[in-house]
Amino acid sequence: MDNQNTDLISLVCKLHDTGALAPREYRLLLLSDDTEAVSALHEEAAAVSRKYFGNRIYVRGLLEISNICRNDCLYCGIRKSNLNIRRYSLTDAEIIACCDKAYQAGFRTFVLQGGEHPESASEHIERLCRTIHGRFPDCAITLSLGEYSDDAYRRFRAAGADRYLLRHETYNPRHYARLHPAEMSRAHRLHCLDVLKGLGFQTGTGIMAGSPFQTADDIVEDILYIGKLKPQMIGIGPFIPHADTVFAGWWKDGPGIIPGMSRKETAMEITLRLISVFRLMFPKALIPATTALSTISSSGREAGILAGANVVMPNITPHHVRQDYSLYDGKVSDGAESAEGMDSLCSLLGNIGYCITWDKGDYGSCIV
Ligand code: SAM
Repeated sequence: MDNQNTDLISLVCKLHDTGALAPREYRLLLLSDDTEAVSALHEEAAAVSRKYFGNRIYVRGLLEISNICRNDCLYCGIRKSNLNIRRYSLTDAEIIACCDKAYQAGFRTFVLQGGEHPESASEHIERLCRTIHGRFPDCAITLSLGEYSDDAYRRFRAAGADRYLLRHETYNPRHYARLHPAEMSRAHRLHCLDVLKGLGFQTGTGIMAGSPFQTADDIVEDILYIGKLKPQMIGIGPFIPHADTVFAGWWKDGPGIIPGMSRKETAMEITLRLISVFRLMFPKALIPATTALSTISSSGREAGILAGANVVMPNITPHHVRQDYSLYDGKVSDGAESAEGMDSLCSLLGNIGYCITWDKGDYGSCIV
C-alpha cells in the first residue's frame, strides 16, 4: 500500500469518525484514481447504513404528476422551451387512482413530482395534499414540485405534506448561472430550503453529479453547504444529457474531472462517491439510489446501495404519460424501476443481501 493510498484510507476513517473533512480532503476523495481507497469509502458507508437500517431499503412510490414547467433549466428535458415533448398534467382523479393502486401494492410514501407551475397552482396543490392525507392518513406525502412562496409551503405543510425534495442543483453562483437562465435565482432556491426546513418538512436537497461545467471545487462547496443545511434526505444522481437541450452532446465534448475517466463514467463515479460521503456525514439520512443512477448503468441501483444508499423510488405514474416525463435520454421507468417490477426489484436487492421494507420510513425511524 503506497503513501497516497494509506492517506486516502485514513481520510475515510476520519470522515467516519468525525463526520467532516477539510475541503482539500474532500477534493482528494472525489478525484482519486485509487480504486482501493474508493472501495474502502463505499464499504465503510455501506457498513454505516447497515448499522442504522439493517439490510432494509425504503420504497417510495414516485408519481410524476405533470411535465409542464415554467422554468427553462438548460439541462432538463421538460424545460419550457422544449417544444418536442407532449405536455400533460394528471387530473386529481388520476392521481388518487395511482395512490390507491400503490397503497394496495404496499407503498406508504407517495412522492408527487412535477415541473414547476406558477404560484397560482399552490391552492390546487394544497387541496391535493389535503385529499391524499385524508384518504391515506398512514402514508407520508413527499412533494417535489419546485419553488413556491413561504406561505404556499406553509399551506402545503398544514394540508398534510410531510417531506419536500428540492435539489439546490449547485451552490456555486458561477456554476448555477451556467445551468440556469438569468431569471432563475439561486438565492431564492436556497431561501426555499431554509423555509422548508423551518416549517418542519423532512427536507431533501442534492445535486446532479457531472453536470456541465461542474468542477471538483463546486462539488466541495455543495458538500459544505449540505453539511450546514443538515437535510434529512440527500438526492444525488448523475447528470445525463437530453437530446433536446443545449447539453445534448456533453458526454462527447471532453474528458471527465476524474483523471482517465470519460464524462459519463465520472458522472456515475462521483454520484457513488458522494452517496458514500453523505452516508458517513449523515449516518441516519435518507439517501436514494436514484432513477438516473439506474439509467446510466444497469447495475447502478445496486451500486448505489452498496455505496450507502437506503431508498429506492419505483415509478407509479400511469403508463400513458410515463415516457413524457423525459428529464434526460433513456430514463428508465419500467422493470425494477416501476411498481409493476417489485418482484424483480426484490430479487435484485436480494442478490446483494438487501430487502425492501414497506415501512413509511420517516427520518429517524432507523434501528439504532
Ligand atoms: N420541478 C421540481 C424541482 O425543480 O425540483 C422537480 C422536478 S425536477 C425535473 C427534478 C430533478 O431532476 C431536478 O432537481 C434535477 O436535478 C433532475 N434533472 C433534471 N434534468 C436532469 C438531467 N438531464 N440529468 C439528471 N437529472 C436531471
